Amino acid sequence: MNKNIITIGAGHGGIDSGAVGTTGLKEKDCTLAIALKTAELLTAVPEFDVHLLRSTDVYIGLAERGRMASRLGSRCHVEVHVNAFNGKASYASVWRSVHLPGDETDADKMSAAIAQALGVKSTGSQTKNGVEHPENDYFTVVETAYRGGVPHIFLPECGFIDHAPTEAKLRQQETVNVLAKAIAQSICGIFGVSLTAPSAPAPTSQPIEGPPQTYEVVTTLRGYLTADEALGGSNPKGTVKPGKYTVFNRKGEAVNVTLSAGVPGSWINAALNVKAPATAQTPAQTPGGSASGTILTVAKGSYYVREKPDFTSKILGIVTGGQKYTVVPAALNFKKIVYNGNAGYVGPAAWEK
Ligand SMILES: [Zn+2]
Repeated sequence: MNKNIITIGAGHGGIDSGAVGTTGLKEKDCTLAIALKTAELLTAVPEFDVHLLRSTDVYIGLAERGRMASRLGSRCHVEVHVNAFNGKASYASVWRSVHLPGDETDADKMSAAIAQALGVKSTGSQTKNGVEHPENDYFTVVETAYRGGVPHIFLPECGFIDHAPTEAKLRQQETVNVLAKAIAQSICGIFGVSLTAPSAPAPTSQPIEGPPQTYEVVTTLRGYLTADEALGGSNPKGTVKPGKYTVFNRKGEAVNVTLSAGVPGSWINAALNVKAPATAQTPAQTPGGSASGTILTVAKGSYYVREKPDFTSKILGIVTGGQKYTVVPAALNFKKIVYNGNAGYVGPAAWEK
């Protein structure tokens, strides 16, 4: 089956926060949350091949966004935004390309669905000539995507972030979910397909309970839409750069890391969050004692190799299910192994019983 490529851009990002609400909610975080959820819903539609322009808090230039959609072969690009004006305005609208009048009806429908999700009015399809509003204007995205041959382009403004009741709603995952569903259903309508319910009712979409946990990413990792994809390494949707994150959710070794507490981010596989071992390690000098010991097999999964028999000591690397090592008992039920020519310690849970 030839799938329709759908591209989704979360407006703003990185140094560009977009509009900011009166209680501090940033447009770039809202757009990312809505885009991630929309992509998750559309990924369940067999007729679609969904790509996110960004799945983390990174900056992408305006024209580059349109070019990315075009390079990916997008059949429909949606660039998600939230408006801001004077704190009083509250309505939803959807911008479309002035060159694609055929999108008007669908833009109207998308606007109405978003308005309903937010409980505000819809002003429907809007358009203006992007050429007259170069690079500073977000319609550059629309114009560039159009010139690159993308046949359907929508830029929804999901209400106004500086309208206090809307900002409060946008902080709730439930609103994000309803907005994403509204956008996803509109896209399905354009292609005459139906929005399939994702097979697993996303235990991933709720934030974890309790005080926020932080998580440090120490190496560039792939980002995923779901915990299962992160664990299986399938369908990566971008990269997660090293830095300090807040944990939005966890599932096994998969961690949903976000730069904005309360807003979902990307799933990563924590087992792969390991600094690459320094190259050209000093050649093994009597590595970790004698080779005599028991041969054990690493249990299914990935486990840290540490510098000392201590869960807080430095991580040297990982061992993965099925690998066999000669082990020597060490403190705290750790097993000492020879790893990259040096002594390493692996915790008790890592071994097949
Ligand atoms: Zn914006």
